[in-house]
Order: sequence, then structure tokens, then C-alpha cells
Amino acid sequence: MERYKENQLKVYNSLSKKKEDFKTITDGYVGMYVCGPTVYSNAHLGNVRTFMFFDVVYRYLLYLGYKVRYVRNITDAGHLENDADEGEDRISKKARLEKIEPMEVVQKYTVDFHDVLKNYNFLPPSIEPTATGHIVEQIEMIKEIIEKGFAYEVNGSVYFDVLAYNEDSHYGILSGRKVEDLIHNTRTLDGQSDKKNPQDFALWKKADERHIMRWPSPWSDGFPGWHLECSVMSTKYLGEQFDIHGGGMDLKFPHHECEIAQSQTCSGVKPVNYWMHTNMLLLNSQKMAKSTGNFILPNEILSGENDILPKPFSASVVRFFNLQANYRSILDFSGEALEASEKGHSKLMEAVRFTDKIEASATSTFDVQKWEKDCYAAMNDDFNTPVLIAHLFEAVKAINQIKEQNATLTAADLTTLKTTLNAFVFDVLGLMNEANQDNSEKINGVVALLIKLRKEARENKDWALSDQIRDELIALGIQLKDGREGTTFSIQ
Ligand code: AMP
Ligand code: ZN
Repeated sequence: MERYKENQLKVYNSLSKKKEDFKTITDGYVGMYVCGPTVYSNAHLGNVRTFMFFDVVYRYLLYLGYKVRYVRNITDAGHLENDADEGEDRISKKARLEKIEPMEVVQKYTVDFHDVLKNYNFLPPSIEPTATGHIVEQIEMIKEIIEKGFAYEVNGSVYFDVLAYNEDSHYGILSGRKVEDLIHNTRTLDGQSDKKNPQDFALWKKADERHIMRWPSPWSDGFPGWHLECSVMSTKYLGEQFDIHGGGMDLKFPHHECEIAQSQTCSGVKPVNYWMHTNMLLLNSQKMAKSTGNFILPNEILSGENDILPKPFSASVVRFFNLQANYRSILDFSGEALEASEKGHSKLMEAVRFTDKIEASATSTFDVQKWEKDCYAAMNDDFNTPVLIAHLFEAVKAINQIKEQNATLTAADLTTLKTTLNAFVFDVLGLMNEANQDNSEKINGVVALLIKLRKEARENKDWALSDQIRDELIALGIQLKDGREGTTFSIQ
């Protein structure tokens, strides 16, 4: 029997603001849509936090035995510089600045995104559709919204009529906003917008001469509004109603609110049963964001090439760090926090490795059945990874007691412990225990020691020794970099 039949998973639904029993539309199947990256720059570690959490959701649903269709799109057109339908398209702007084709920008950052996901052990989604691959479907959806009387054309652009929609539905149902307050709070300069009302949003924008990404449509040569692609692609691949829709909290408004309005206008039903939103990763107490320059790149953590970091860290340690926090809480990034996670991660991996050496006894001193139930209960409680990790450490404690010959397990309990531990650590959390990863942690430690000795040599003005350490490390392919915050290194 599939595990989901015995387990009652509860999911916090951002729409009802409550934890609800997870019931799928079709028994045994889950449809899940997660808003993907806008590929105009490298994904930063904040983006990775959000995608990593949904990777764990996907992994756990698979582990429970569901058949999951996981759709995560690539936004390669239509995302303007600001959320109020103004400014240049992010990808076009980058292409103009770098004097390359927009599709070169898209290719470059899509490749980078996939590289990061591979390094960080993500499972690929079932479908990864692009906005530019669905222009025809987007035009069709706009026609349908116009026919139903919820959109209007002005000067070649088409806008969704929020007030008309709000007469019978609630625009703001997800984010808890009221249209009246939105009208009050939206600033537009007189005459600068074609919109009937400032809270209306673009379904299609006429392209000005500078805008190089453009497609023909019944209204103008132009491009679709950003919110439209997700309504179109989720409906196309998951149907008018599906189970889970995810993204970061910053997408709740306007992006997800607009998605609901568009989809519901066309289908007449609420599109999503469970809305899930991750909280933000912070750096220097502020949201990690590309636009403010307050970010760190995931591949910089692997190489150590960022002054914020005392040294490089493995992808598995970063996964562990992320999953030690509940996805609905903010999480502060720092080198020290990563160092603390690295210690915990090593302890966990050592214990997992030691399970192969345990010999069974006649009796058990650790209640494996209860522990196993607790592990499931943690994940069933809205994917509570920090509580799961705390339970994993109860097993670590028991394993260490066995190592010191202060505890025992029967053969049956040993098998359950090993199977469950491996399943949660590797299959569900997606942590990695490559043999050389442990070595790389040791190498990092040795290089850190050499950096310390070189610093002492320099303080003693022993330039010959300090140069020798640097040069011999270079000969081994290890480059030291002296910065204001100290010395970092990269391994070629
Ligand atoms: P974008 O490429 O900007 O559309 O973002 C991709 C995903 O990353 C979205 O779900 C965002 O909500 C999410 N995101 C952006 N910044 C952060 C952050 N600092 N912490 C967590 N998630 C974030
Ligand atoms: Zn989206």
C-alpha cells in the first residue's frame, strides 16, 4: 500500500491561512505548479531557497507514493522591470546592455540555472515550459477574457478590468487586500497610463520601437503580460483545477492574485486547491535580491569566492542549512551559520555511515517504531523539515551510543532504522553523502590551517615561508585570494 494512504499530510494553505488535510483532486495523483525563474541574471541563493523547498515537497510526495506532475516554468519574456506594468522587459534590457540577442540572455541564464540545480541535487520537474513557447495560447486566453467582458483594449495594449472582476469575485482573496485600498494606494502619473483604473494589469502590451521581443497579435505587435504565462501553462499542463501552486511570498501580490483572476475568469472555478508560499532568505538582515545587489550566488558558496564566506561549503551543507529552518520563517544567511550547519551535517553523515557497521543484538534500547512515526509526523505537519532534522538527531544520538557500546538494536529494528534514515536523509531531504564530499570538507580544513600559518608567517615578516605556502598551493591548483575580510581560496 502506498504510504500516503496511511499518512495524513497537512498543508498550510496561504488562501485559507490554515493547515488543511491534503486531499488530491484525483486519488493518488498530484498536480503541482511552481513559478520558475526569470532568466535575465544568475539565480541567487534566495531563489534557491524557494526552489529547494519545493524540491523537498516534490520528493516527499513521491516518497509517499503519489504520482506527481511537477511543472516549473521558465520566464523568458514579459517580466517588466517593475510590477506595475512599467519599465523595460528585464531580458530585453539585459540584451541591450550586453549587445547580445535576448535569446542569448535566456540561454545563458537557463544553462546557469540548470547548472546550479544539478550541483545542489534538485530533481528535474516533469515539465519546464517557457513563456515564449506559449505565445499562441496566451493570445487565445486574452481573447477569451475579452469575450467574457473582463478585459479591454487601449492603443494596442490589453488590460484586465479588475473592478469588473471584483463585482462577483474577490480580487485580493489571496493577499488579503481590498480593491478600494488598492485604488487608494496606487500611484500613477496623470496621462501616463492607458489603464481605465490604476489597479488593472496588462495582459498584452504594445511594443515600442526599442522593445525587441515582440510577436504579432490581433491588437498590436507586442508581448504578453508577466502574470498571463503562469495561468496559461498551469491550465495547459495541469488542468483548470490542480492541487498545489507554489512560489516565494513576494509573488503573492500582484502575481498570484492576477493568476487567480485570469484563470477563474476563463474557467469559472478556483484554479488552485493549496497555495504554498516560502518566506525570504535574508542577507545582512535584508531580503536577498538581485535588484539591490544584496545577494550571494550558489556557485560562489561551492568555490568560496565571496568575501562573506570564511571558506567554501558543500552543496549538501547548504541544503542542510536551508532545511534546518521552517519554510514559512525568514532565514538569515551568514558564513557562521553555514559553519554551524557544516558541523551538524558532518555528525549526521558520520552516523549514517556508521549504521553499516552496527551488529544486531537480542534486544533494542531505542524505540525505532516511535522514532519512525515521529519522522513521518514531522513531514506530515506541513513539511516541517527542522522538526524532522531534530528527530534525525535522536537517531544520531542512539547510533553514537551503540558505537560506544552503550545501546543495542535488534536485527529488525536495525533494518527499519537504516531504511528510514536513508530515505529521509537522501530521498526526501536530498542531502548528499559523496565519499569525496567528506574529503573535500577535510581539504577545506587543511587549507584553512595553511592560511592561518601563512598569516602568522606574514605577521612575523617571514616572507619566504608565506610565499612558499602560497606558491605550493598554486602548484596544487589552490589559489589564495587576499581580501579586506581575510583570505579566501578557490580550487581549480
Ligand atoms: P524570480 O526569478 O525573481 O521570479 O524569483 C524566483 C523565485 O525566487 C520566486 O518564487 C521568488 O519569490 C523567490 N525569491 C526571490 N528572492 C527570494 C529570497 N530572498 N528568498 C527566498 N525566495 C526568494
Ligand atoms: Zn508565476
